Amino acid sequence: MLATETEAVPDRNVRILLVEDDDVDREKIRRFLGQYSRPHSLSEAISLGEASTEIRRSGYDCIILDFRLGDGSGTDLIPFIQEVLGRECPIIMVTGMGSETSAVEAMREGVFDYLPKAGLDRRKLHQALDNSLRWSEMQRQLTAAEQRLRRQSLYDGLTGLPNRNLFFDRLEHACAAFARDRAGFAVLMMDLNRFKEVNDTLGHAAGDEVLREVARRLSPLLRQSDTLARLGGDEFAAILPGAGNAEIASHLAGRLSAALHVPMTVAGKRLVVGMSVGVAFCPNHGTDANQLMSRADRAMYQSKRRMLSVVIDAGSDEAPAPSSQVVIGQIEQAMLRRELVLHYQPKVDLVSGEVVGLEALVRWNRGPGDVVRPADFLPAVEQSRLLDFFTYHTLELALRQAREWLDAGNGTPVAVNLSARMLERETLERDVLDLFERYAVPHGLVSFEITETALLVNVPAAREAVRRLGEHGIAFSIDDFGAGYASFSYLRDFRVREIKMDRTFISSISAGSFDAVLLRSVAVLCAALGIRVVAEGIEDLACRDVLAAEGCRYGQGYAIARPMPAGDLPAWSARWKAEFRSANRDS
Ligand code: C2E
Ligand code: MG
Ligand code: MG
Repeated sequence: MLATETEAVPDRNVRILLVEDDDVDREKIRRFLGQYSRPHSLSEAISLGEASTEIRRSGYDCIILDFRLGDGSGTDLIPFIQEVLGRECPIIMVTGMGSETSAVEAMREGVFDYLPKAGLDRRKLHQALDNSLRWSEMQRQLTAAEQRLRRQSLYDGLTGLPNRNLFFDRLEHACAAFARDRAGFAVLMMDLNRFKEVNDTLGHAAGDEVLREVARRLSPLLRQSDTLARLGGDEFAAILPGAGNAEIASHLAGRLSAALHVPMTVAGKRLVVGMSVGVAFCPNHGTDANQLMSRADRAMYQSKRRMLSVVIDAGSDEAPAPSSQVVIGQIEQAMLRRELVLHYQPKVDLVSGEVVGLEALVRWNRGPGDVVRPADFLPAVEQSRLLDFFTYHTLELALRQAREWLDAGNGTPVAVNLSARMLERETLERDVLDLFERYAVPHGLVSFEITETALLVNVPAAREAVRRLGEHGIAFSIDDFGAGYASFSYLRDFRVREIKMDRTFISSISAGSFDAVLLRSVAVLCAALGIRVVAEGIEDLACRDVLAAEGCRYGQGYAIARPMPAGDLPAWSARWKAEFRSANRDS
């Protein structure tokens, strides 16, 4: 996770290189730097040639670079600086009259900031230095976090199956989903029989081949929504959503175990490796990951001891939760009956009060006064074949609404939540573009929000989908930012326009708190990348000033507006404007 600000900019000596050919300008900048409060040392170069020799000779923490030099343009030096000092070495450009446009261009090449020489003063220079050093420290942390992430990567190198990390992550998700939608599931622990013998007699290469073959045989027997993982050694495990009762689960477990009854040929030998399977259910055997794993583990050992292939842990035998199939059937009907509707929650500019967008949130109007929130059906939908239908249905509702507003002269942008799993669909790009076209809605008007934790699972496919839709001008926002881990890498991996800070940060924010410092660090990074930062879950407008001061200019939450039917928006908007005006007058 992020460090606090004091850690973010260590108080060590900052090595600055000033590349400037104009004697007067150089003298001025030198003077300003003389009053810089951080310990630093300054070297100077007056040409590109001199600068490159200097950069190669010793390391620097920051380069102040004149745009126009006697022997070429400062921008020519950027690739060289990045190659020798790394991309995290911040470059601040100073520009004379008329080179501002090119300087902005240069920022795209990786320049951190630019300062026009006209009007340059001590304060501006010091501030640019402070920001750039903070940014560079953050880049360093980002690289370290990514390396960590790669190390503990999510898949098993041998079989290509999810590894222990990803398995537990999914299991925890399944438990959290159970807490919301009460859809039970089964956990299977599997252990190969006599695997040690294979290793001992045929060697490790043969052992590896057996493990790969086991994965090849088991995978096709499971559905896309199931998770099969290799936990290590000869231990495999599975999560089977929707298999919330003993009958379905033991049937499946039996099929898995039977798949290994057919002999395999390894190292020229035909052999049969059996497997012991232990089964536990959520909620009968537990509702948290550890409980479930230990019960499945216990059942697995019983199965080994009793030489049975499948044992279901003899826990309490309460009736399992109603299957999510029931919910799915009802939602399908609800869509056909047009009972799914969108409510809209405004995102506002916390400084001006202006409404900058509306987030569409799905509701199921089950009957008069009976409104069902997405948490009660979405998890089941996301694990079912209904997800595509549901996604395009809700997107269509949003596009139709956007069209209606456009016709009435209102072009407020709308954001639609997209289940991350949709990013793996090959036809997503085509289907989405078709819908935009059908309603003749400009691509910039409707964007997608995707949650950060969900992105983790299939990064390459997700990045590709985000990039492709982005090329068509359809923007993405990362939802619940900060709720997961390694969040920073997403900012680089995914071209997003907006991040929404998770409400856990926002609810407790106060000036000077750790969350406030964290928010500011994120805001600095986002500002450099041109990403808008929105605070979600604002329940008390008192934090508005703190948020704005930390660089988080936009917000959303009950204190501003609850999600509401489209028809309620005009009345809310009038009330909000009046309230905002009077609150600003009072403060
Ligand atoms: P989200 O996208 O993070 O949406 C914010 C959720 O927080 C909404 O709940 C909203 O009503 C609630 N919220 C807003 N302001 C506040 C606040 O100040 N305090 C508190 N405590 N809560 C606040 P909702 O509408 O129940 O949606 C829950 C989640 O369901 C959404 O989280 C989103 O991930 C998902 N979702 C909603 N609609 C759709 C949809 O059409 N498609 C997909 N795929 N997911 C959706
Ligand atoms: Mg959202
Ligand atoms: Mg959110």
